[in-house]
Amino acid sequence: MKFRKSIISNSKQDIACSLFLFFIIPTVFYYEIQHVLAEIHGYNYILYTHIILGCYLVFNIVVNLMHIILIDTSVFSTNELMTTSRFKTDPTAKDWNLCDKCELIVPPRSWHCDVCNVCILKRDHHCMFAGNCVGLNNNRYFMIFLLHFFIGATYSFFYNSYYIWIYRGTSFIAWFTPFKMFFPMFMMFFRSNNDWHLFLYMLIMIGSIFTGVLLVYHMKLIVKNATTHEKNKGAYDLGRAQNLKIVFGDRWLWSIFWPFAESTLPEVYWNPAESQKSR
Ligand SMILES: [Zn+2]
Ligand SMILES: [Zn+2]
Repeated sequence: MKFRKSIISNSKQDIACSLFLFFIIPTVFYYEIQHVLAEIHGYNYILYTHIILGCYLVFNIVVNLMHIILIDTSVFSTNELMTTSRFKTDPTAKDWNLCDKCELIVPPRSWHCDVCNVCILKRDHHCMFAGNCVGLNNNRYFMIFLLHFFIGATYSFFYNSYYIWIYRGTSFIAWFTPFKMFFPMFMMFFRSNNDWHLFLYMLIMIGSIFTGVLLVYHMKLIVKNATTHEKNKGAYDLGRAQNLKIVFGDRWLWSIFWPFAESTLPEVYWNPAESQKSR
């Protein structure tokens, strides 16, 4: 595993998204424990069980996110790069693609990212929240991050729904509450000290839906061994079990529960003729 030399993205949008994520994760964790769960259950073993579960989820979310940010998945993480001068003399190099921006011959399924300004191995997409591309070396961490984020946000959403609509229903049930949630401008007209609960509730709901949709979308691609921008989604299909190993490695079960688990990716040769980008 090779780490990137610089993890600060060239894009201001990426930096803002990453800062937001690093602010919202501990904020929601603190809110759920200190306000929602402590008020509903009191300080007893039920709360402590939730704290342990919450710590496990936050640990997996943060450690996987750090791996997406730190891991170098560019073509420079391999030793097999070919220079343009070699391209002219080495007949086997013609199977690879020439990137005119990097001035290198790069392996099939590698595409250039304009934000990272480098070619990425088996590039899937550029992740704004990590400020890095998701590709061959960090795809596993991206998926496990999504899984735990989805579980955490959905877990919070159900508890918050109970807290807002039932436990503290008298403070929140009003005709203008949904308007306050979906159009925060309404908070100016019907102001109350409890509005911040609704704001967090809305963010958690969006987080749950957003990560749930992404998780299903990317899992559908992974079981076919496809990436987001590839034209022919079935071109590299090697069977479901092998397709999963290409992303999660040989110890895929460990990788789900323990982000530091070693799980080696199989070596696969991609047929360059099938390496086509959809846009
Ligand atoms: Zn390039
Ligand atoms: Zn990128």
